[in-house]
Order: sequence, then structure tokens, then C-alpha cells
Amino acid sequence: MIKSLAVLGSTGSIGVQALEVARLHNLRIDALTAGSRIDILENQIREFAPPVVAVADEKAAEELRVKIADTSTKVLSGAEGVKECAACGSECVLNSIVGIAGLAPTVAAIEAGSDIALANKETLVAGGKFVMALAKEKGVSILPVDSEHSAIFQSLQGCADKKQIKRLILTASGGPFLGRKKEDLENVTVAQALNHPNWSMGAKITIDSATMMNKGLELIEAAWLFSMEAKDIDIVVHRQSIVHSLVEYTDNSVIAQLGVPDMRIPIQYALTYPDRFVSPVRQLDLTEFSTLTFEKPDYETFACINLCRKAFEKGGLYPAAVNAANEKANELFREGKIRFLDIARAVENALETAEQNDDYSLEDVFEIDRLIRTQTERLFA
Ligand code: NDP
Ligand code: MG
Repeated sequence: MIKSLAVLGSTGSIGVQALEVARLHNLRIDALTAGSRIDILENQIREFAPPVVAVADEKAAEELRVKIADTSTKVLSGAEGVKECAACGSECVLNSIVGIAGLAPTVAAIEAGSDIALANKETLVAGGKFVMALAKEKGVSILPVDSEHSAIFQSLQGCADKKQIKRLILTASGGPFLGRKKEDLENVTVAQALNHPNWSMGAKITIDSATMMNKGLELIEAAWLFSMEAKDIDIVVHRQSIVHSLVEYTDNSVIAQLGVPDMRIPIQYALTYPDRFVSPVRQLDLTEFSTLTFEKPDYETFACINLCRKAFEKGGLYPAAVNAANEKANELFREGKIRFLDIARAVENALETAEQNDDYSLEDVFEIDRLIRTQTERLFA
């Protein structure tokens, strides 16, 4: 098992759980980063005594410097500070920043030669081409934290030849609006969309689960992580979130990973791979579930899934474009400025307006991100 770890986005839902796992296994913490929630970060600094931390928000960083003046932890600030923490050279960097803000730190951590435990799916959706190529070049591993991808990764252990994989099957809980039709979703509120049945997560991904954009992003994430074509990745709605995803092999054998819905299993596996250790997670008692259900997604109502599929099939900057539109629209919805179904409209608009460019650079990814965000804002102005 690794001995040391840096956690980017340590104040968030995944970050806090990652530190629980780190505490359990006595991992040394090399660096922590946050957006602006310095109260949580201060407690983490006092417990784990990292040599360096970064706060993206400059003002909050300044406040933190005062608060922790009695410790020896150095406080960096801004996106550059976060990148510097990412490049601290820890054995493993767990990236649980939300959104495209996680992409540059992921690249910096790979450049520094750290293995990556990746929760920040937007990193692969927007920059998959660069992240995967750079990881290969530097000989670092990208270990999935997202529960579906961890399940696939676990189900792939022992697979001798990639040619023996026929299909990846991602499971989806269906979110709070499963079973509803488009017309039922016209006026849903932010509070209703934030009320996820099975998982307690950060606000952005919870809304992504309600639109099922999350499953579209995960399809793209899986395609990059496991070098699969989109046509070989299927999605199945599994309401109970017990079967976390599956791999179908050429002999039609299907291998899955099961467990209670608790992110500490995939987080810990990313940190202890290929070994397994005792975890704080509750045992799965299958007899508690008299039925496990599986059904086809309603692609008409939850249009974002296929918009992501299309974006990945078109390739180039399309996935970055739909990701940017979704991030902006998701934020506008949470701020009460647009309606729930406008999120899918924004994603569709990005898919229609982005241009084909197969020979793109990482800078182009950041550029299209900025452009589509502005365009999305204008769409609803
Ligand atoms: P949260 O919103 O709970 O946490 C996000 C973290 O990122 C916080 O530490 C936040 O800081 C930090 N952050 C926000 N904006 C910035 C920024 N501009 N620069 C640097 N840091 C920033 O999100 P989650 O933990 O739920 O999700 C994190 C990632 O993991 C997402 O990509 C999500 O899709 C993925 N994921 C999450 C799962 C879950 O169960 N939560 C499951 C699978 C994947 P602050 O707290 O100060 O705002
Ligand atoms: Mg997931």
C-alpha cells in the first residue's frame, strides 16, 4: 500500500471520505487543497499536518494563513497554488476537485510522476486524450475512484487480453426523477433535484445525477480509462445501487462488483490496489434486498446521456464542449436562474455549435471551455 497521499478537493464529499481512509491506514498527507471552505481545511491541517496546502480563493487563503499561523503548514493560493500542491511529488494524488478546475492539477500531478486516484471525472471527459497519453509517457497509473469505474476496474482484474472484453455495462441509479417524463420535469425545484435517493454527494454531481448527465460523463470517462469505443459501453438503470457496474466477456460471462453504496470502498481500493484491506464500510447482506432491478434508461426524458455519447463519437473538442455547457448550466440551475430542462438544452446547444477539430491541443480544451461557458450564459440571458 502507498505510504503517502495528497488530496485535492479535500473539503468536499469525496475529499473528506478519502481522509477517513487515510486516517484508518495511517497515510502521511503531503498536501491538501480546497476551493474556499477554510474551516474544514483548518481542521484537516491540524489533524494531518501537511507541509503545504492551497486554497483556490485568494481571500480565503489569506484568512487561512492567519488562522493557522501557529502551525508549520505553508498556504498557497489560486489555481497556481492548487497546481503546485498537485505537483508535490506524493506517491499518489487523489483528485476530488469538482469540474474542469481539476484538469490542470491532474496534468501537473502526472508530470511530477505521481499515481492518480481520480474522482474528478471532468478531467477525463474534457482532457482524456492528453491525460491518458501523458500518464502512459510518465508511467503513472490512473486509478478510478468513481464507483462505476472502480467496479469495472475490479471486474477486469485477471483479464489477460483486452480483446476478451465484449462490453462494459455502467449501472445508474436513475436519480431522484426516475420514472418521470419530460413534461413532469418542467418545473422541478433545486431542492427536489438535490434529493438523491442513494448517495450523499456534492451539489454539482447530485444535479448531474438528476439530469443523468452524470451517466453520460461516466460513459466518456469509461471510454478513456479502459480504451473502449462508446458503442461497446451500455447503460442499465439499477435503482438499488448495489451492483456498481459490470464487464461482459467474449464468452458472455459477466463479472460485476457489488457492495453497499459507500464511496469509501472505491476510494480505498484506488489507494490500496492491488491489495484489499479491512474497511469501515458496512457488509452487504443480499437478503436485505429481495429484488434487484435492472431496466433500460429513458433516453428521451434524460437526453443528456445520448448527447454525451454523440459528443464522444464526434470526438475532438465535443466532449469538452458538452462538459462546459453542463457545468455552467448546472451552476445557473442551482442559482435559480434557469429551469431544470434548460440544462439539457444547453448541452444540446454546445453539441450543435462546437466545431470539428481532431488536431487539438490542451490549450484548445481550456479555450473551448471558456467559450462555451460564455455562450451558455448568453443562451439564457
Ligand atoms: P464537492 O463539491 O463536495 O467537493 C468539491 C471539492 O473541490 C471541494 O474540496 C471544493 O472546495 C473543491 N473546489 C471547488 N471548486 C474549486 C476550484 N475552482 N479550484 C479548486 N478546488 C475547488 O464535490 P464531490 O466531492 O461530490 O465531487 C468531487 C468530484 O468527484 C467531482 O468531479 C464528482 O463528479 C466526482 N465524484 C463524486 C462522487 C461523490 O460521491 N461525491 C462519486 C463519484 C465521482 P470547497 O469545499 O472549498 O468549495
Ligand atoms: Mg459514479
